[in-house]
Amino acid sequence: MARHSKHAGHIGSIDEHIVAQAIDLTKIYGSQGNQVTALDHVNVSFNRGEMTAIMGPSGSGKSTLMHCMAGLDTPTSGKVVVEGLEVSSMNQKQLTDLRRNQIGFIFQSFNLVPTLSAKENILLPLQIARKPIDRRWFRQVVRVVGLEKRLDHRPSQLSGGQQQRVACARAIMARPSVIFADEPTGNLDSRSSREVLGFLRDSVREYGQSIVMVTHDPRAASFADRVLVLADGNITRDMAHPTYDEILDVFAGDDADDGSTMEGAQA
Ligand code: ADP
Repeated sequence: MARHSKHAGHIGSIDEHIVAQAIDLTKIYGSQGNQVTALDHVNVSFNRGEMTAIMGPSGSGKSTLMHCMAGLDTPTSGKVVVEGLEVSSMNQKQLTDLRRNQIGFIFQSFNLVPTLSAKENILLPLQIARKPIDRRWFRQVVRVVGLEKRLDHRPSQLSGGQQQRVACARAIMARPSVIFADEPTGNLDSRSSREVLGFLRDSVREYGQSIVMVTHDPRAASFADRVLVLADGNITRDMAHPTYDEILDVFAGDDADDGSTMEGAQA
């Protein structure tokens, strides 16, 4: 597994257990007089080979944290480190390398190319990066996500759950150091959600994949090894292997901002 970019220097000492880290991370949007502090001196380390869920009400800073971690947004102050490399000081070329080699993404809206087949979508990032395709790994990933019979289908010929499984396969194909998943089950019914989350959890258990997932859904978060709760740009809870009930307890009394859980009816 390629863990280190050839194109950027390491900083500090590297703890092999940590895949990504936010150090005193602050993000302020807007200009003077009209400022919003989205992240307020956040310190957190994401462990290798773990699935971490990030929860919290709308506007608490979840997306901003993910985007800063993945090099898609620039911090106002503080640092982001992935695999010992300081993302927050990278130039565009280094960021492109980072996204190709170290980071995988899964989005709520699947983000598949509509004109390409499932197989072509899964292999596209490797082809763009001109990386060799490990056929054995491809067959294994396709089998685990259960897409063997759907490889020639276009996204429009697949259900939402199948499309998200294509997106999961695409994310894991390059064996990234860490996958960032933004509400990966937000558009799925409860059965498809369980399938996708089951696959993500298996990729952690069986292949040591590291995953950071933003979710509103306590049921989805209960698949994670660790659950962080954000409020007003601060981490207010850090729970190891919480049960579904323990997660529910944290939010008891809060009004869910979208009301959706896997038990609820979803579109
Ligand atoms: P969450 O993902 O938890 O809903 P966000 O990270 O999207 O929260 O937002 C955190 C805060 O930052 C919110 O108050 C939001 O309005 C603000 N914010 C997010 N993005 C921007 C932006 N591009 N410009 C201005 N304010 C923003």
